[in-house]
Amino acid sequence: MSIIIFLLGSVVGSFLNSCIYRLPRGVSIVHPPSFCPSCKHRLHWYDLIPILSYILLRGKCRYCGVKISYSYLLVEILTAFLFLLSYYHFGLTLEFIFSCFFLSLLEFIAMVDLRTFEVMDFAVYIGIIIGVIFYFVKFDFEGFIFSIKGIIYGAGIMALIFYVSNGKMGEGDIGIAALIGAWLGDINTIVAIFLAFLIGGTIGAFLIILKLKKLGDKLPFGPFLAIGGGITFLKGNFLIELYWRFLG
Ligand SMILES: [Zn+2]
Repeated sequence: MSIIIFLLGSVVGSFLNSCIYRLPRGVSIVHPPSFCPSCKHRLHWYDLIPILSYILLRGKCRYCGVKISYSYLLVEILTAFLFLLSYYHFGLTLEFIFSCFFLSLLEFIAMVDLRTFEVMDFAVYIGIIIGVIFYFVKFDFEGFIFSIKGIIYGAGIMALIFYVSNGKMGEGDIGIAALIGAWLGDINTIVAIFLAFLIGGTIGAFLIILKLKKLGDKLPFGPFLAIGGGITFLKGNFLIELYWRFLG
């Protein structure tokens, strides 16, 4: 079952790659069929096998030899692992499907933000609506309130940071925090945002030490929110416990 879930995740990852490339450019995800971004040659099924094609072609286009970004491979592998984690956490349940959806959506938003510094609003809205519906179906009115409270906490905290930082933080991050809130509820949303700053600050410091970035360089915060949100979604209660234990 793990192998099937992994393969399914890699196929969804391949689809995400197409979305990450096409949607910010305003290209439809169904038409035209897959093509090489460089030579525009149409890709055949054997060029599109997730993970395998990239490795067999050594990361180059079969037709023009242009190097294909390793991020294509990364997204396929990452999505496969996100599906596996969801499966190990929820088993074959309805929650599993929703978890795969939420984590894939976060991955899509993070990758687009990383490449373009843009947050895809429509993806945020769809994610918020489905998150609220999920909790309403699962826990009735109580679930609905849980989700709405998360949205208010997430959007509220990031909006506050946005104004305090004089707009140095992106406005799009408010939307991502609201999305995370819809899926995590009030307390875990705070944990996720805290984690995002912790991971973002650490990675940012390393990038400066390694001279890959300069102080004051732009670094999108969306991907860190996505990472914080994803980890907390699966392991939120464990993180809170760990934190209290750490404080003694
Ligand atoms: Zn090509």
